[in-house]
Amino acid sequence: MCRFLTAAWLVLSVNAPATERQLFEAVEPHMGTLVRIKLYAAGEEQANAGFRAAFNRIAQLDSELSDYKADSELNRICRTAVARPVEASADLFEVLAASQKLAAETGGAFDVTLGPVIRLWRQARKDNRLPSAAALREAARHSGYRKLHLNPAGRTVMLDEAGMQLDVGGIAKGYAADAALSALAQLGIGSALVAASGDLAFGDPPPGTGGWKIGVDSLDRPGGFTRVLELCNAAVSTSGDTEQHLDIAGIRYSHIIDPATGMGRTGSMAVTVVARRGVDADGLATVVSVLGPERGMAFIEKQPGVAALIAAGRDQMAQVVTSSRWARLACPAPPNDKH
Ligand code: AMP
Ligand code: MG
Repeated sequence: MCRFLTAAWLVLSVNAPATERQLFEAVEPHMGTLVRIKLYAAGEEQANAGFRAAFNRIAQLDSELSDYKADSELNRICRTAVARPVEASADLFEVLAASQKLAAETGGAFDVTLGPVIRLWRQARKDNRLPSAAALREAARHSGYRKLHLNPAGRTVMLDEAGMQLDVGGIAKGYAADAALSALAQLGIGSALVAASGDLAFGDPPPGTGGWKIGVDSLDRPGGFTRVLELCNAAVSTSGDTEQHLDIAGIRYSHIIDPATGMGRTGSMAVTVVARRGVDADGLATVVSVLGPERGMAFIEKQPGVAALIAAGRDQMAQVVTSSRWARLACPAPPNDKH
């Protein structure tokens, strides 16, 4: 059984009728997690070429977008783009542009300049104690999405001050899943899925089927994947505190930061978002985690073609709500704006 992070997606076995194409599967570590690819190919040679191209693309994105790797493009830009515009790669610029759009639409609830605050909480989880108020105040002083400036004309990035740290951990894996699917499509492999832990992107359906069947375990119904979706040319992301959190004095602080307070969000929830592109599903799932169930669901309802399932509360006590489009999810036509 392959479980994905947080709300635990399961890719159900596909009973495709016998065709010329066969199912191949590979897993590699990338972006601090395991990335799984399933694809249908004419034979081993085509499958291996596909795996190489897709995993290489993800490795390239990791070298651009990682905040863990000191020499990543993102970290270099944090050092060099202080008070002066620096040209960014197309990938980094696109991820930052999508992030700033979400920041503007959510009044800064989604904020990729929270790096200094996020790093404090990462250390706090290792040390098993809360970050100090003074350290949080200082980190928050160097954050704020209005201090990040993008100029599409020269594809440049500029930061207002030294000490800022970008962190695209809430959106990069979905972008990478899209990019890996595109790399496969360029080799003629259209029927594939890419799963970067909780961020999944689906291409064309498995041969002879209506879509990739995935089950969701949404915390309230343990022991069975009772909700099943059939998707293609779409993406699914989960976000929540099931995997990464800090428990102190009976309170669970998640790795999702509320920019208004600089604190890890409390009040357990897991959200699953379905969108056409991974970059959208991933970003929006994190947005809902920051906004909470009510404001998050209201935001989702405003997004064309997007659906969400939110489980608020822990385990069997979780209350599950779905957006109005959830019940109507079906296999859409291929998008024309893939990477
Ligand atoms: P996800 O699992 O996609 O929801 O992403 C979680 C990651 O998003 C965290 O580990 C942080 O790197 C990042 N993050 C945390 N809080 C925020 C926030 N308010 N806005 C944007 N990114 C965030
Ligand atoms: Mg996300």
